[in-house]
Amino acid sequence: MSGCLFCQIARGDRHAHTVFEKEGTVAFLDIFPCTPGHTLVIPRQHYPTLDEMPAEEAGRLFHVAAVVAGKVQAAMGAAGFNLGVNNGKAAGQEVFHVHIHIIPRYPNDGGGSMKSVARMSGEKDIEQIASKIRQTFSPS
Ligand code: 5GP
Ligand code: ZN
Repeated sequence: MSGCLFCQIARGDRHAHTVFEKEGTVAFLDIFPCTPGHTLVIPRQHYPTLDEMPAEEAGRLFHVAAVVAGKVQAAMGAAGFNLGVNNGKAAGQEVFHVHIHIIPRYPNDGGGSMKSVARMSGEKDIEQIASKIRQTFSPS
C-alpha cells in the first residue's frame, strides 16, 4: 500500500516519533495528540480495519499495545489511559491502516470515557441483542 501513511511510517519512508518496535509492530506518537504522550500502535502489515486482520495477529498487536500503554503512563506520569480503536468510518476512523490509540489521561484533561463516543437512551431490546450476537458464534 504505497499511498498509505502508516505503511510509509512502518517502512521508515515517513518520519514518525517512534517509541517502540517489536517484530511486526511499531508504536509512535500521534501527530495531533489528544493529550501529551498520545501513541499509536500499528502492525507493519497493512490491514484497513481490525475485522480484516487475523485474530492471532490482532492479539499480538493488543499485547504490544498493553505493554506500551503501561510504559507511556509511567513515562508521562499519567493518571490512567484510554486504549481503543476507531474501527470503520462510522466509528471515526480516518486512516485505514489498523491502529490502536493509547491516550494517556490526566486529572482535569477535559476528556470523557469510552462511553462518550456515542449515546442511546435505556436498555431497549437488550435480550434480543444478546441473542443476535450469540447466534453469530453458533448459527442454528
Ligand atoms: P483514526 O481517526 O483513523 O483512528 O486516527 C488517525 C490518527 O492518526 C489521528 O489521531 C491522527 O492525528 C493521526 N495521524 C494522521 N496522520 C498522521 C501522520 O502522518 N503521522 C502521525 N504520527 N500521526 C498521524
Ligand atoms: Zn497501510
